[in-house]
Amino acid sequence: MKDDTKIVQAGRLKADGDVPRDVEVVNPPVYHASTVLFPDLSALSDPKRAYTYGRHGTPTTRALEAALCALEGGVRTMLVPSGLNAITTALLCFAKMGNHILVADSVYSPTRVFCDRFLTRFGIEVEYYDPRLGDIATLFRPNTSVVFCESPGSQTFEIQDLPAIAAAARPRGIIVMSDNTWASPLFYKPLPLGAHLSIQSATKYIAGHSDVMLGAITADAETAPALVQGYRLLGQAAAPDDVYATLRGLRTLSVRMARHQENGLALARWFQARPEVDRVLHPALESFPGHPIWKRDFSGASGTFSVVLKPCSTEAVAALVEGLELFGLGYSFGGYESLVMPADPRTIRTATRWQSGPLVRFHVGFEDVDDLVADLTAGFARLTAKESRK
Ligand SMILES: *Cc1c(COP(=O)(O)O)cnc(C)c1O
Repeated sequence: MKDDTKIVQAGRLKADGDVPRDVEVVNPPVYHASTVLFPDLSALSDPKRAYTYGRHGTPTTRALEAALCALEGGVRTMLVPSGLNAITTALLCFAKMGNHILVADSVYSPTRVFCDRFLTRFGIEVEYYDPRLGDIATLFRPNTSVVFCESPGSQTFEIQDLPAIAAAARPRGIIVMSDNTWASPLFYKPLPLGAHLSIQSATKYIAGHSDVMLGAITADAETAPALVQGYRLLGQAAAPDDVYATLRGLRTLSVRMARHQENGLALARWFQARPEVDRVLHPALESFPGHPIWKRDFSGASGTFSVVLKPCSTEAVAALVEGLELFGLGYSFGGYESLVMPADPRTIRTATRWQSGPLVRFHVGFEDVDDLVADLTAGFARLTAKESRK
């Protein structure tokens, strides 16, 4: 099945097996369950029983897990309460005391904070690497256990050569995990490209409506048993209503991503022609340094990218951002509505140096591009007025 078909068909419950035949409906019911009742003692001791306790899964959670797993091309998906939780769970399942782990310098900054403040407490050594490094194997040590990737990088959008990283890591038994939030499993598939684990903040594009927190970890055959075991030991579970809302969002992922891509690229090209703009960090632009790898490994671009402004004051950036009417000032991305967020990559990089001017990240939603351009044009006029008054 092609992806568009999987998005519609995967994880749909079957009458008789999952739901009673006389109320077969399109979407799975929301099972609010802790206790699952067993008909008798032999059922209680049957290891093959699909449902045993709310924390271990319900038909609602299994539906979303199955759909995401089919899209990622994995063997098992586990749902957790947030994207950050998916990252911490994956790391806790595979990094052990005395290990050395390699983390891309461009990761989502809370991933860094978890590694620095939490994993180090368990005697795990964390080393950050340049996401565009040519040969990752030069950093491998006998005790290296994990390479953590995120492509493109948060805020700065560096594209990683995941197949090359996986080819170096796999023969040494090093686990490769990739935060796949930006592209969603529709536009990038870390597992078929060689990663062991793909991590999603389903909060973003998959749920797609800015109203849910949810994370997902998808594992290949080699890592699935350890992931499932670690997940259970950590007591992980996901809330039924959030799972349902995410499954509902998923069903329209491909139509939404197509529009995010179209509107995002239209604005990225418009920004490129603006005199106030130094560079646009968008992997689908031919001029972007990581573009050839993006073109090889991704099947599309989401609506999230950054703009590097020519040097200007923080007051001028504030004048641009704060007066925007159609771009909400807020964290996150992936919803139907446009967002804006200034960032300073200098504060969240250690292996590489960020020396460019002010950076502003945009998430482009489904508003009419002409209206977005008008809003931004007024924003640049405010920026210029502020700068010339200095
Ligand atoms: C938002 C985000 C996360 C964290 O997801 P939450 O659901 O907010 O916990 C992780 N990785 C990336 C790349 C993100 O953008």
